[in-house]
Amino acid sequence: MSADRMLELTMELLESGMMWGEVKPLYKLYEELSPKETAELIDYTIDNQKLDSWDKQVVYLYLALYSYQIGEYLPDKLYTHLMKETWDSYPEIFLRAAPQVAEMLIDAAKTEEMRAQIMPLLSAVRTEKSAEFLAGTDHRWEDTAGGWCVEKGKIKTLYREEVIPFEESPGTEEEDRWVPLKRIDRLCRFCRHPLTLIFNQKEPLGSCLVCSCYQTIYTRMEQGEIVWHEKNKKTEILEQCMDRVLDGYPNPERKLRRSREFRRITYSASVMTDISHTQLGGLPCRFDHLDYPDCPDCGEKMIFAGQIEGQDIWEWGDGMYYFYVCENCSNGACNYDQT
Ligand SMILES: [Zn+2]
Ligand SMILES: [Zn+2]
Repeated sequence: MSADRMLELTMELLESGMMWGEVKPLYKLYEELSPKETAELIDYTIDNQKLDSWDKQVVYLYLALYSYQIGEYLPDKLYTHLMKETWDSYPEIFLRAAPQVAEMLIDAAKTEEMRAQIMPLLSAVRTEKSAEFLAGTDHRWEDTAGGWCVEKGKIKTLYREEVIPFEESPGTEEEDRWVPLKRIDRLCRFCRHPLTLIFNQKEPLGSCLVCSCYQTIYTRMEQGEIVWHEKNKKTEILEQCMDRVLDGYPNPERKLRRSREFRRITYSASVMTDISHTQLGGLPCRFDHLDYPDCPDCGEKMIFAGQIEGQDIWEWGDGMYYFYVCENCSNGACNYDQT
């Protein structure tokens, strides 16, 4: 597809409020771009005088998340251009920056003000150099931004490489392909509503779907089942909202099944794009400032295991539930973000 047509489709989608594309989802079209088409689209967008810098960034965002035929990294040219144009970029775009881009960013971070702007971008470029630089700052996401952290002197990845996406099931599939969105026979000790099992693929993941909207809720495994973790402590926010929490517990309504689509780790890393975000593994949406919990038993950062969109649970649901695990202790955790 020609560069100007791709740009046109991207802008159409942007104007229609990020609804699904007409022919096929836009991310699929970006996925199909050949190396030559990718390079052309970058040049064409950079040189385009009619688009403002935010519109251009949507093109770069799609390229960074979905266009892999060109190789692991997007051309440095794109990043040099971005650094000239604005520091207010989507960090997701920098997930596909080559290691030398980290050095360019560090070189540019001369003043305190510049540092604050550059750090979210630098966090997305995983190199020893970025880790070293970020560790020397008091940036608020410094310890987990980019989906990794430094633990015991080593870079620890906070997500899994293998991605398992889900799609809504029309209800005609055999039972075993359905994701059991089901209440389990264990209670939340805060609100006394039953816990809900959300995914049961690699390991069972679940939580209290009400209380986890207010604070991180921990679970542990007991004989292969999820149970309440005794170390959960009720926060003041939850205490204040208890009336609302006790009000009722919606019954999960949707059925999902495993999708056969192949996804890379970046596919679901932004809420901006026209993909369904419910999946196991890969980078979480808002990966750059997610509250990766510490394991209540061993204290290590827990790994992101999966996320489910609120709308995949309830008809009027919104936001996103994030699930984490500690592989040492088999503990689970869940928190929620409404944006
Ligand atoms: Zn609860
Ligand atoms: Zn642990």
